Amino acid sequence: MKKDFIVGKALTQWKREYPLVEKIMATQEILWANPKYSSSVEAMKQLKMGSRDVEEVEERLKRFAPYIARAFPETRQTKGLIESPLVRIPEMQRKLEHLCHQKVQGKLLLKCDNQLPISGSIKARGGIYEVLKHAEDLAIRNNRLCLEDDYSVLDNDSFKDFFSQYSIAVGSTGNLGLSIGIMSAKLGFRVTVHMSADAKQWKKDMLRSKGVMVVEYASDYSKAVEEGRKQSNTDPKGYFIDDENSKDLFLGYAVAAHRLKQQLEDMQIVVDEDHPLFVYLPCGVGGGPGGVTFGLKLMFQDNVHCFFSEPTHAPAMLLGLMTGLHNQVSVGDFGIDNITDADGLAVGRPSGFVGRTLENLISGVFTVNDESLYILLSVLSDSENIQLEPSALAGLPGIIRLFNNQVGHQYLEDHQLNHKMGNAVHVSWATGGSMVPKDIMEGYYEKGLRLLADNNYILTHPLKL
Ligand SMILES: *Cc1c(COP(=O)(O)O)cnc(C)c1O
Repeated sequence: MKKDFIVGKALTQWKREYPLVEKIMATQEILWANPKYSSSVEAMKQLKMGSRDVEEVEERLKRFAPYIARAFPETRQTKGLIESPLVRIPEMQRKLEHLCHQKVQGKLLLKCDNQLPISGSIKARGGIYEVLKHAEDLAIRNNRLCLEDDYSVLDNDSFKDFFSQYSIAVGSTGNLGLSIGIMSAKLGFRVTVHMSADAKQWKKDMLRSKGVMVVEYASDYSKAVEEGRKQSNTDPKGYFIDDENSKDLFLGYAVAAHRLKQQLEDMQIVVDEDHPLFVYLPCGVGGGPGGVTFGLKLMFQDNVHCFFSEPTHAPAMLLGLMTGLHNQVSVGDFGIDNITDADGLAVGRPSGFVGRTLENLISGVFTVNDESLYILLSVLSDSENIQLEPSALAGLPGIIRLFNNQVGHQYLEDHQLNHKMGNAVHVSWATGGSMVPKDIMEGYYEKGLRLLADNNYILTHPLKL
């Protein structure tokens, strides 16, 4: 609902203070550079978390690796480590330049979290980690496990019986539910996933087939979270995973950074003062991209530039950061409908925890419309034979925006990056896709092809991305 007053200020006043508001409200694709972005060392000093916290997560994941390898045979090759490949996508880079009539500098890579084992999305990082941590806490507190044990003992009926006294619940638009649901059910927990209306049917079906309770809501993500929390709190042995405020989830995502650093080194790709790294991260509530950004800043400080990407119809983090109001503001306040096919990203209100933690560390946010996501989906499939779900394509326009946009030019100039851009590495974070059923993926692909072939669409939207 469009109102003349938005969180206590007249619309005309908002527009005066933040000229981009008009375009955002009109759901146009934009790039916003964060005026509060500053030196990472200084910004990190203000935070209560640091590298020690991320190391602790890595150690815990190592303790669980023997269990993961046993419970999920697809992780045997990586010895129970849940990690995804980093690949070069030169053909896609060429296609993008051609489609958008825009030359770019540097090399484009794709971080393939769509291939993460167990749940096929970035949620296999934070979501699974938080369930494991909770399981470890319970088992240790009840003298059933110690830190030195081989955790593969968890894969047995007596542990499943033990965990079955406890319940876990989460609110989700889909992928978080898959991660939490699959992992919790495997350990033996009673698990309930509270799903928003936009969650895909196949995700609900898959969860139910694994013994997960799925509760469906007619409203959006925030409502599913609220109801889920309320119900979970009535169970004294219940544990609610709070996507909007969880430090564990956040730190679970952060581990990705150290692993990415190793992968870059293995590919002999240098990141330093003369070789900047740009990372483009699809953002929903913010925990995934936020955690990764936090980890990357610990690894690369000012040599990494993290941009978040959101659907034009759900620019929650953008509004939160830009206005400084974080979770005090929702896209609905600005008359934006929060309707998008990018499931993980259909979030109307950002995490206040993530926004406040990273308000000086996020370089900027850009928005993408659904049509662009479908077009990119089919172009990526044709050029690199990689299939992603729509939301996972949202990072790709980042490399174009940096070069075809005045805001991008200004960012490069402000940070004296222009002469280094030939050495730049751009990583688009592909956040999900491998669990999508084949027929549904084909539907996405064909939709992308149709849009590409539609001259009207291309004429009115000359793929500025
Ligand atoms: C959840 C999700 C994201 C974003 O993660 P948040 O923590 O919600 O910001 C991005 N892409 C996909 C596919 C997701 O499922």
